[in-house]
Amino acid sequence: MIDLGEGGRWLPLALAHPQAWHAFGIFRRLATPQPHDISARHFIERCGYRGRARSLAEMVFTSHLPGSLDDIGIQGFIDDGILELETSMDYRINQGHDKLIEHIGNGIQVEFGFVVRTIEWSEDGVVIRDVAGHERSARAAISTLPVGVLQNGAISFRPELPEAKRTALRQMVMGPVLKLIMRFEEPFWPRRLAAVYCASGPITLYWNVFYGAGGAMPVLTAYCTGARAAALAELSEEEVVTRVLGDLRRHFPRGSRRIIAWRLVDWSGDPYARGGYTFLRPGARGARARLAAPDTGRLMWAGAETATEQIAATVAGAYATGLRASSEVLEALNA
Ligand SMILES: Cc1cc2nc3c(=O)[nH]c(=O)nc-3n(C[C@H](O)[C@H](O)[C@H](O)COP(=O)(O)OP(=O)(O)OC[C@H]3O[C@@H](n4cnc5c(N)ncnc54)[C@H](O)[C@@H]3O)c2cc1C
Repeated sequence: MIDLGEGGRWLPLALAHPQAWHAFGIFRRLATPQPHDISARHFIERCGYRGRARSLAEMVFTSHLPGSLDDIGIQGFIDDGILELETSMDYRINQGHDKLIEHIGNGIQVEFGFVVRTIEWSEDGVVIRDVAGHERSARAAISTLPVGVLQNGAISFRPELPEAKRTALRQMVMGPVLKLIMRFEEPFWPRRLAAVYCASGPITLYWNVFYGAGGAMPVLTAYCTGARAAALAELSEEEVVTRVLGDLRRHFPRGSRRIIAWRLVDWSGDPYARGGYTFLRPGARGARARLAAPDTGRLMWAGAETATEQIAATVAGAYATGLRASSEVLEALNA
């Protein structure tokens, strides 16, 4: 379903409205090379989208990306593979993403709870220290620190990071993302409902977690990005639940919405994330490659926000950057 400001409607019905038709070519227009990097707002205005077409066009940019139309750069949107993300099939790891981490970590000694405060890097090696001054040193290291943590100044680098990297960090926006996962006594949404995309209201997207798994638990996820996530993050957990239940009543006026359990996760409030994921500002082309560049001695750079080969800011992107950075380490050690 999709809500273009009048409550949820089945997608084909909402798209059948002539006012929406103008937006249908947006993916083709985005795929056409742009002479200049402009903001998403500028792009929408240049295309002349109005009414429902404008709502649809805005959703293309802000449903997934956690930022405003003014902050999102068109070139970054394309280079990051968001067009591909939005037009291709979704997939999931049936047993959960934890399985992937378990697989990668198999046989590796992992030290938990070491909160890095300073990183000293040189051509000979890397030394990290925590707030109490405990130290770990290595001939080489890979940083996968989240961009939100790096931007926040939580880590001191000695020497300072090169200007190109500091500029790259300024050119990325780590935006707020928040999720409320709710288990209900019984489903009150249509049996065939997979998701509700919302142009208005407090939530960006709802999805039916066990869609297609007949008879499974009635669980909905409310997913929230950008300004809407920032607004909910200001509220108490109970207020968030009340607000979301009120919004669900707008979409599904009938049935009991008796909630049995919930879990709220706010990534911007997590000091080890400081946001959900990043996107690039207008004019930031190449920022991810600059952040990824092996230009800090034996300290290499990986993590989803340095991905240039896969869709950026995704698990697949993070995985690919780990392979890239580990081959850079081997090259440096064998030089
Ligand atoms: C709500 C949400 C939904 C998402 N959905 C999807 C999806 O469906 N598919 C997909 O592919 N991607 C999705 N993503 C994106 C994906 O989760 C991330 O891109 C990916 O997990 C990032 O991996 P990473 O290894 O780069 O960083 P992280 O997994 O963030 O790892 C960074 C690590 O650094 C640690 N750290 C931070 N500060 C310090 C410090 N000072 N000292 C020591 N350690 C520190 C953190 O604890 C963390 O373990 C989603 C993200 C969010 C927020």
